[in-house]
This record gives sequence, C-alpha cells and structure tokens, in this order.
Amino acid sequence: MSEKKVHENIRKSLIYKTAVEYGDYTLNHVTGCSHGCKYPCYAYMMAKRFKKVEDYEEWIQPKLVDNIFPLLSKELPRYKDKIKTLHLCFSTDPYMYGHPDICNASTQIIEKANVFGVHCSVLTKGILPVELAKMPLKNEYGITAVTLDEDFRKEMEPGAAPMEDRISALEALSKQGCYTWISIEPYPTPNIHEQNLEQLLERVSFANRIIFGRLHYNKQVTAYKGYQDFYNACAKKVIAFCEERKIAYHIKKGTFVE
Ligand code: SF4
Repeated sequence: MSEKKVHENIRKSLIYKTAVEYGDYTLNHVTGCSHGCKYPCYAYMMAKRFKKVEDYEEWIQPKLVDNIFPLLSKELPRYKDKIKTLHLCFSTDPYMYGHPDICNASTQIIEKANVFGVHCSVLTKGILPVELAKMPLKNEYGITAVTLDEDFRKEMEPGAAPMEDRISALEALSKQGCYTWISIEPYPTPNIHEQNLEQLLERVSFANRIIFGRLHYNKQVTAYKGYQDFYNACAKKVIAFCEERKIAYHIKKGTFVE
C-alpha cells in the first residue's frame, strides 16, 4: 500500500439514522478524537472492537474524512425531508480542541445542512466559535460539562478544552440568542470525584436544556455502595433545579431507577 493510501480516510456514506437516546440523524466526519477521555469513551471502545483503530495512541490522532463535502452534496438532498435534527457527533468531537481544520469543517457542515433546511444539534468538549450565532437556521449548541474542577477535567478529558473556556464560549452563544444545552454525562460517583452538583448547575443555568446521565462502563461506579441512591438523588436535584428555573431537562435512561 502506498504512503498516500495509508493516510486516506475515504467513506462510502456519512449521514445515518442513530439508535442513540435523544438522537435522530447523525454524522461523524472524523475518525478518532484527541480529547482522549478516560471515563472510558464508548466511541473509542467501539472503534477498537471493530478494528477502526489499533489502540488509544491511534485514537487520539484524529483523521478528518477526506470526502465530506462530495458525500454531503449527495446525502443532504436525499435525507433532508426525513431529518428532524442532524447531530454532530456521537462518535467523535466536532469542535476538537486545538484542531482548527476539524472545527472549520464542522462549521461548514452545519452551514451546508442549514442551507438545505436541515437543523443541527452540536455537542462538544471543545470551544464553540461565536460565528455559529450567524448560521442560517436556529441550531442547538451544546457542551459536555461534568465538573468545574480543572484537575479532574484534565484527568478524565486530557485533550479537551478547559472547562471554564468551554462554558464561557457556550454562554457567549447564549447571549447572542442561540439555543444552548448542557450534557452532564457521564456524571462521576463520589468515590471517583467528590464535588458539588448544585455549583455546576448554577454555573450552567443560562442554558435552555440540561441532560443528566450516569457513568457507565466503569467498575468504580458499581463499587460505590449506594451508587443508585446517589444517582437518584442527583437526578432529583437536576429536576428540581430545572423546574424552578424553567430549564428543559432530560434524565438519561438507567440514571434514575426506583
Ligand atoms: S470527546 Fe467524546 S468522542 Fe472524544 S474522546 Fe471524549 S468521549 Fe470520546
């Protein structure tokens, strides 16, 4: 195989219907993710299982898909009437921190989708650029924020954007009138990280919607005695907080169990 072929990342298709909770259609235009989350990352586990990457070192070297825009030109006209929301992304991060090429491609994808009348939902652990406020449609811009503690963020999301920068960028979009949302998932149990959920909720209370979900695939969670009671109590706090502030909310399946 030639050197060029080794680095090619050509896909046959991009947009697909997802089975992920709260998802509709989605696309993942990058293979890998330099954020390298240690919760662990489900996308990394799947990429490794299906031999899309060899190991963690390869996973954190992201590769942008080469033929994004030719594929979108074919797929957007085909799917535009079926898509309620096109989500970026479930298996990578569209605003990968320190990767302007990926961020620019994501902004162009959103713009192109909007031109076809397709509304987008975005979720990142990077910095959302303020020019997203000028997109043709009213999209939904979100960040993952499971902590305000920068040391814990560095431990669990080593390549992602600093938490305060991430929140401030989203807040700037909110101030520009954009619909914003927060994913507090995967939320850690106190044996992994002890923290104050109310403080986190207060900091992100400008958002229009909050999604809360437990941590999965981590043995430390089930090792924590009373972990289900802990998650039930957290979910109740999120619900009470959101109802009081008139913030929309969603508690992920399996987080609150009676
Ligand atoms: S940002 Fe998302 S896709 Fe990237 S490593 Fe973290 S969990 Fe995985």
